[in-house]
Amino acid sequence: MVYNFSAGPAMLPVEVMQRAQAEFCDFNGLGVSVMELSHRGADYIAVAEQAERDLRELMHIPDNYKVLFLQGGGRGQFAAVALNLMGKNAKADYIVTGQWSRSAVAEAEKVGQVRVLDGFEAGAEPKKLATSWDLDPTAAYVHYCPNETVEGIEYDFVPETGNVPLVADMSSTILSRPVDVSKFGIIYAGAQKNIGPSGLAVVIVRDDLLDQACPNVPAIMDYAAMAKADSMLNTPATYAWYLAGLVFQWLKEKGGVEVIGAQNKAKAELLYNYVDASDFFENRVHPSARSWMNIPFQLKDESLNDAFLKEAKAAGLLALKGHRIVGGMRASVYNAMPIEGVQALVDFMDEFAKRHA
Ligand code: PMP
Repeated sequence: MVYNFSAGPAMLPVEVMQRAQAEFCDFNGLGVSVMELSHRGADYIAVAEQAERDLRELMHIPDNYKVLFLQGGGRGQFAAVALNLMGKNAKADYIVTGQWSRSAVAEAEKVGQVRVLDGFEAGAEPKKLATSWDLDPTAAYVHYCPNETVEGIEYDFVPETGNVPLVADMSSTILSRPVDVSKFGIIYAGAQKNIGPSGLAVVIVRDDLLDQACPNVPAIMDYAAMAKADSMLNTPATYAWYLAGLVFQWLKEKGGVEVIGAQNKAKAELLYNYVDASDFFENRVHPSARSWMNIPFQLKDESLNDAFLKEAKAAGLLALKGHRIVGGMRASVYNAMPIEGVQALVDFMDEFAKRHA
């Protein structure tokens, strides 16, 4: 048995891949692959619409939100958000808590005036997430990243931004726990963690934000134009969209976001509790800001890092190397990772620690 702890592209449910495999060459008895279907034909449109319906059901998305299936991954949306929201008012507040929220700033700065707000409380290490910010009530929007994939920092609350629309990069937290979509102006996510293959981006946008685009927004990033065309202004990433739909069906069969959320909490606690009790490993994130999806941990003796990775791989535990910015290890435990995988990792860590004590 192999468990893949990659941060993305990440593990997909095996049942989803088996189903995709079974219908790969002959979709629905049509004698062709879903990849070969015209996006304008009734067979494919049924696939696309079902995926959207299932996502709406899973996330309880209110009717005054559009759901878009676009291309260009998470980073494409760093630009798209700014280009779609800064047409009438070219200033925005960006709360920065790590690598990905910082990268979003860099794209928005190409479009308008960005104020960067520190996402942490001043003071002692490890840092706690700030719960209030010096927000500009006249900004077009406030952007933040609810789960920083690199650092393993996650909000367990939604920032309060008054009348200013809140925009969230949910790439590595979407569908991992319940969220109240009505608190957001825009939610977006690259697909390659909890949704499906890379390249696809899912955007959930409130209707009243569809008239604020910059005139120079490229058509393939234009939310209003894409909403009008049901995300098919150009040829969408049809196979990725189909696979996303299979993942949504899988999640519904599992009991939905509420059920998977409880499982994700249990998975995270299993690993954090082990690391906290160990004097061989450590996690440096404040307990109130620890991610359920991306769990960095360090070996106190860093000279053992290479041996740890090599032996973990031999034991079927893949892709545990931490991001180069943080170093050490990172276990990404998205929805498709069963608790047995986390237990296997903890068992391996314990055995490794004993051997190297
Ligand atoms: N935001 C977050 C939180 C991410 O984790 C990632 C990718 N790891 C991105 C954005 C960028 O996504 P992509 O590579 O699909 O552009």
